[in-house]
Amino acid sequence: MSVALVTGAGSGIGQAIARRLAADGYAVAVGDFDADAARATAEEIGGLAIHADVSDKDAVADMVATCTDKLGAPTHLINNAGHVHQARFTDLTADDFDRMIAVHLRGTFLCAHAVLPAMLANGKGCIINMASQLGQIGGIELVHYSAAKAGIIGLTKALAREVSTQGVRVNAIAPGPINTPLVRALSDDWRAAKSAELPLGRFGEPEDVADTAAFLCSDAAKIYVGQTLSPNSGDVML
Ligand code: NAD
Repeated sequence: MSVALVTGAGSGIGQAIARRLAADGYAVAVGDFDADAARATAEEIGGLAIHADVSDKDAVADMVATCTDKLGAPTHLINNAGHVHQARFTDLTADDFDRMIAVHLRGTFLCAHAVLPAMLANGKGCIINMASQLGQIGGIELVHYSAAKAGIIGLTKALAREVSTQGVRVNAIAPGPINTPLVRALSDDWRAAKSAELPLGRFGEPEDVADTAAFLCSDAAKIYVGQTLSPNSGDVML
């Protein structure tokens, strides 16, 4: 059976991906550092809740070990956990920067590092890393977030080059603004300006990103390697 480990699945995009993959027949492990949120999602979809901070190496090792014990080794990893924080560059502290990189970039590295040995041993696996269009175009007052997401795109391409001949596909998703608690935490001004400039004229929904993830997880995406797919309301056109 396919086993999907989805981080940050207690809310928003990760929750929608967990729901979609469970509906598609995957056994789903719901990782989140909000234990109550992880439990609620897991109960709803019949999945396994695992409490873990993806920036913590030991916690990530425990998360993957728990998933492997209870459901089997992850065949699919969706590196989705993340947070946002907005500040002008001159007000940004080194601690803000370090935390952003730790959760998004180090977290993506740690989770991929923890699941890859079993995937390589099986000669098959799929890793999806949640980037952002802001890693492609940059976001005002979001230098640390944009840098972390650009790093995720680079990590995705390099890892894909390294492991694709061994059966593991690594890809990224770079969503545009999606209606989740994360985006609702940004300023009203930011959201109004962003909405106005979107060719589609509206933000996406978490289920739109879940559709993209479900595709990348499936055999229909068998020749997708090191790609960054962009469910982004037309904001970035590559
Ligand atoms: P969200 O706030 O709704 O959900 C994020 C989840 O991640 C929460 O349940 C939170 O508890 C969890 N989380 C945060 N830090 C964690 C950590 N260190 N360890 C484990 N879990 C952690 O946010 P969302 O909008 O669903 O965002 C999901 C991902 O999509 C993030 O990586 C985000 O950067 C990315 N993204 C979001 C948008 C958007 O517009 N919403 C756009 C592009 C990219």
